[in-house]
Amino acid sequence: MEAAVAATEALSLAAYRDAVAGCTKCALAKGRTQVVFGSGSPSADLMFVGEAPGFHEDKQGVPFVGAAGQLLGKLLAGIGLTRDQVYVANVLKCRPPGNRDPQPDEIESCEPHLWRQIELIQPKVIATLGNFATKLLSGKPLGITRVHGSEQEVVLGGNRVVLYPLFHPAAALYTPRMLEVLEADFGRLPSLLGAATAPPPAPVVELAPPPAVEPEPVQLGLF
Ligand code: URA
Repeated sequence: MEAAVAATEALSLAAYRDAVAGCTKCALAKGRTQVVFGSGSPSADLMFVGEAPGFHEDKQGVPFVGAAGQLLGKLLAGIGLTRDQVYVANVLKCRPPGNRDPQPDEIESCEPHLWRQIELIQPKVIATLGNFATKLLSGKPLGITRVHGSEQEVVLGGNRVVLYPLFHPAAALYTPRMLEVLEADFGRLPSLLGAATAPPPAPVVELAPPPAVEPEPVQLGLF
């Protein structure tokens, strides 16, 4: 991305982050230490969306810094990426008490923040981590066990995006079989990114058919 455009996006994302820091749109505002907005590159091609901040995220103000976050970092390193090169956010920006599941009214209140983040970052690939992010961003009720590892093209935040559902790293932490699947699904990210960021193919130029060759008039001999 052009440097000036990237700088403007970084500014608008930072401004939006500041605006959201005092959000009181749902009851989670009362129990939080701080809003956990998101972290990483404001012009990332690859964005991850998890569920909600946990204990450590709430304290530090950064998503995925606990055990699940360590695994996410390892999986990224495995495909040659760092946290600084991608963007990481959650469906909910505030910690639910006791790390309970997000409630429908909380998701409804918080989702405009995520849509705006997507609009500003304009990622090419969004990897959803677990059921909540997958259902919200796909707009479909299909669970992660059915749809993990299968990408689909969607329009989000006004842009075409490849949506790529993955198991949540927290689930994979204690289930070796799920970890294997998550690693295998993760391994497809570089080629999905490559395809999503490749310049569009040059238009096929239709060659005009060669002009029909008029047969030379045959000079009939008079004699
Ligand atoms: N930490 C996060 O920030 N999000 C999750 O979904 C889980 C842990």
